[in-house]
Amino acid sequence: MTQSRKPPEAIDPLLFRFHLKTLRPLLEKWFKNKQVPQSILLCGTSGIGKNDVARELAKWFLCEKISLTQDLQDGFGFADTASEFTPHPCGNCSVCHQIQNDQALDFTSIGSADLSQSIKILDLRSVLETQGRSAHGGKFRVFLLPNAERMTIQAANSILKILEEPPRDWIFILTTTDPSLLLPTIVSRCHQCRLRPLPNDELKKMVDSPSLDHKKLQFALKLSGGSLTRLKVFLSESQFQHIELIERFFESPLKYYSELVDWASSGGPQALLLVDGLEAFTHELLSETAKNHPIDNPALKSHAKYAFRQLGSQGAVVEFWMNQTERLNQARLELTKPINRKLLIQDLVASWI
Ligand SMILES: [Zn+2]
Repeated sequence: MTQSRKPPEAIDPLLFRFHLKTLRPLLEKWFKNKQVPQSILLCGTSGIGKNDVARELAKWFLCEKISLTQDLQDGFGFADTASEFTPHPCGNCSVCHQIQNDQALDFTSIGSADLSQSIKILDLRSVLETQGRSAHGGKFRVFLLPNAERMTIQAANSILKILEEPPRDWIFILTTTDPSLLLPTIVSRCHQCRLRPLPNDELKKMVDSPSLDHKKLQFALKLSGGSLTRLKVFLSESQFQHIELIERFFESPLKYYSELVDWASSGGPQALLLVDGLEAFTHELLSETAKNHPIDNPALKSHAKYAFRQLGSQGAVVEFWMNQTERLNQARLELTKPINRKLLIQDLVASWI
């Protein structure tokens, strides 16, 4: 444990079931070959549940009901008694509970739970100090690096050194939205697994409630781009007004520029929500255009007309949106660094005008 924090919520069973379709063949292969990789990289769009899935994977490695063990003769593997494959950790044994509550001795989630904070060398202290110490429960020690692109260069180098020669009972699970944001030498040492964005019908099941306004749900689904976290944020009463502010900005950029900048610069989570919101709207613009659909959101339609007038051709507009997507990805990363947030936000928002 790197610090005291609020335990994460348990994974939505529907979410885990969806991602198991991708994970199951891998787990089965590891089980059959009696070998698990020591560094795993889960990647995929922001908000699809990578960190929750990583925690389930940690449980799978350590669960008392799964006969995964460390065989000193053959390296990693499964005990000979393991006859039946199961892709689920039991979720009920003491180890599963401890992992869920960040209290397991053999499980460490590294870095702040606030994803707008970078992962510093100091956050790795608990890992570095315990090199040479074997797993408490006789199986593995599992380390989770959620949103690993947040690592400072010193932290990344330090992790790279461990991944080059990991202690034999250590497993690292890294997650990231985009592997190109990590050191290529780290990525090349990891077994990569790409989790898919969630289809709308799955997302609907996950947020379904009788009180949900159908129109609002459709609007939020369209913007969520397969991300459950985004959908929940976009649906929440307190955040919806900010998404509407971003939408108004697309309609009248000059009128809403200051209001948007002031709100988004007021804190790390607000800045990230701005990036998410801009990205979601850009995604909608790009996907409707790619499908040759007319843009039916009036604010986005007005922005598209404005961009066309400024840039002169449809091709140039599409290129602009693609560059903006890239820029937003970069901004998300820069926000984890000690920078002048207001300047970054001003620059980012102004690039749309
Ligand atoms: Zn268990």
